[in-house]
Amino acid sequence: METTKKKFNLTTKIFIALILGAIFGIILHYFVPASTFRDKILVDGVFYIIGNGFLRLMQMLVVPLVFCSLVCGASAIGDTKTLGKVGIKTMGFYLITTALAVAVALSVAKVINPGIGLDISAIEQTKTTIAETAGFADTLLDIIPKNPIQGLAEGNMLQIILFAILIGIILAKLGKKVDVVSKFFAQFNDVMMEMTMIVMKVAPIGVFCLISKTFANIGFDAFVPMLKYMFSVFFALGLQCFVVYMSMFKGFTGLNPVKFIKKFAPVMGFAFSTATSNATIPMSIDTLEKKIGVNKKISSFTIPLGATVNMDGTAIMQGVAVVFVAQAFHVDLTFVDYLTVIATATLASIGTAGVPGVGLITLSMVFNSVGLPVEGIALIMGIDRILDMTRTAVNITGDAVCTAIVAHQNGDLDREVFENYEEEDQAALA
Ligand code: ASP
Repeated sequence: METTKKKFNLTTKIFIALILGAIFGIILHYFVPASTFRDKILVDGVFYIIGNGFLRLMQMLVVPLVFCSLVCGASAIGDTKTLGKVGIKTMGFYLITTALAVAVALSVAKVINPGIGLDISAIEQTKTTIAETAGFADTLLDIIPKNPIQGLAEGNMLQIILFAILIGIILAKLGKKVDVVSKFFAQFNDVMMEMTMIVMKVAPIGVFCLISKTFANIGFDAFVPMLKYMFSVFFALGLQCFVVYMSMFKGFTGLNPVKFIKKFAPVMGFAFSTATSNATIPMSIDTLEKKIGVNKKISSFTIPLGATVNMDGTAIMQGVAVVFVAQAFHVDLTFVDYLTVIATATLASIGTAGVPGVGLITLSMVFNSVGLPVEGIALIMGIDRILDMTRTAVNITGDAVCTAIVAHQNGDLDREVFENYEEEDQAALA
């Protein structure tokens, strides 16, 4: 695949796979008469095996990836003692904006109802949904693993998260004494990221098969809900970015939010095209310093931290996906379920690494928490790339806005730079 001159990047390939898969599936559904070849060999054979094989590869990554990434993220947070209040405040902002993001997403999705009309319940569910939702007290207690190894083995994400966060904080507390263990987690995290990259390489094939199968099974019926799902995510992302962030920015700093967006737009563009928060860290720190006036001593800590733990855009996608899949599979979610989604999606955002597609992996943990079938992820996987790109832009904007606010409160935001950068820039160009 890679031997032919690299004409298309992964994003383009996934787009192409998505479109081809949809076209192929629709042709199969409407123009190819039912036959053993079409139904048993192609759709339920080849497409099923390859598509679900890819899905399983993605699932394989969840526990180790989330665990390591959280240990590393939490140990970075544990380090905040060096930055004292700034760290705690930043984390506070990060958590609140993420919880808010999920709430925005759930509200938008409940209004648009993207999954209604998509009858997918016929699709076989390999994992039956968790029977009864336990009571609130038990749900809360169940976050504490009696046996963390069992929690890991069963993929109980809340238990995994708690255990990982504790390890991370203790690693930071013990510092040099546990250097080897810290390094181990950091390096294992790298290994898992690499594995994710490798799995993502086969994404176009997986996406083609998954989407072909979906469209071959349900034809155009899949199309409208899919567009509604995308629209819901875009709309919620827009609200978060242009309403929530911008009013926060204006409210806390008194500065012009439109100016902020204009200055920050290139970083958003870069995040959009790469779909990775991590890659934007240097550009973001640089832009915040030179154009917005944020002292590097703040941003060099808060931006990498944000790229690791603060994924509001991802949380939005997860919130909408929950409603979409619940509707598609006719699962009724209770109020407590929605609260659980807000909590788990916020935590999932902490556990989502800032690289392409990971939000989709941690989505399974959100689904598990309310007993939704993980197969539902297959439905949205095909169109996730464009959403991934967009949500990444929102992810890093959230980091930047929180950073600017914290810097402002700490006396580390140079308003002169913010107000005058453009003029200086123009002057320099003249
Ligand atoms: N691509 C996202 C990021 O890097 C993570 C995700 O949602 O998959 O911020």
